[in-house]
Amino acid sequence: MIGRGEGRGKAFPKGRDKPRNHQFVGGDFRMRMLLAGNWKMNGLKTALAEIRALKRGLVDETARADVLVCPPATLIMEAAKAAEGSPIAIGGQDCHALASGAYTGDVSAEMLRDAGATAVILGHSERRQYHGETNPIVAGKMKAARRAGLMAILCVGESDKEREAGHAIRVVAQQLEASIPPELGASDLTIAYEPIWAIGTGKTPTTADIGEMHAAIRAMLGKRFSAGGETIRVLYGGSVKPDNAAEILAVPNVDGALVGGASLKAADFLAIIRAAPRR
Ligand code: PEP
Repeated sequence: MIGRGEGRGKAFPKGRDKPRNHQFVGGDFRMRMLLAGNWKMNGLKTALAEIRALKRGLVDETARADVLVCPPATLIMEAAKAAEGSPIAIGGQDCHALASGAYTGDVSAEMLRDAGATAVILGHSERRQYHGETNPIVAGKMKAARRAGLMAILCVGESDKEREAGHAIRVVAQQLEASIPPELGASDLTIAYEPIWAIGTGKTPTTADIGEMHAAIRAMLGKRFSAGGETIRVLYGGSVKPDNAAEILAVPNVDGALVGGASLKAADFLAIIRAAPRR
């Protein structure tokens, strides 16, 4: 299950509700990978067939990784029903900071939860770019996710210009610093590093660049959450496909992937899930 509290690790009291996404390996632990699909504004009711196909394909894969599908809000309730009895969790792609009110067209974290979601993607670069979402706005939504009991997947990432100027790590550090409100704990949080220039473009950073950024994010989380920082999953996102997934998922400090286009077809998403190393 994906949900708030699933990210707790070493700091979590012994014997109590051991978190499912951690495997103890030789006295240490490593997080089970999370493969999250972001359908964006794609999918009519007919797309629920992809959830059912994913469910069939995952029959033998339960121990390999956690799987999350984030369909458009209109499909969450039906997607949650279609995923019942499977390891697939359902998430939203955005939420409002408030629980209810006169905000035409918006959806609250509580509404997502009520519809069957256990997670929500926040601060995606398309929300930042097309809806003017700033770090403080994202921070308000992060608080809402916590309030509703949803695991927040916080997206961070630099533009091509910022990378070329050598500012990628600084930009991501600022986004993390300003988008995570003080009341959030490590167990409320997953990070998705998504270089903007890699999203939907077919371009990916080198594995060395991914490794460098993920190590930097891990260090930043350590400063912020002490030991809890080790328990936060850091996903990579940006043009992950069946043919590059194994290489990307093998990079140290990569704890899974946020997948856009290749999550729309169950066969492709399954191939990516199967590329995840068992932990
Ligand atoms: C995304 O939208 O989060 C994403 C990573 O998209 P794609 O995989 O299509 O690049």
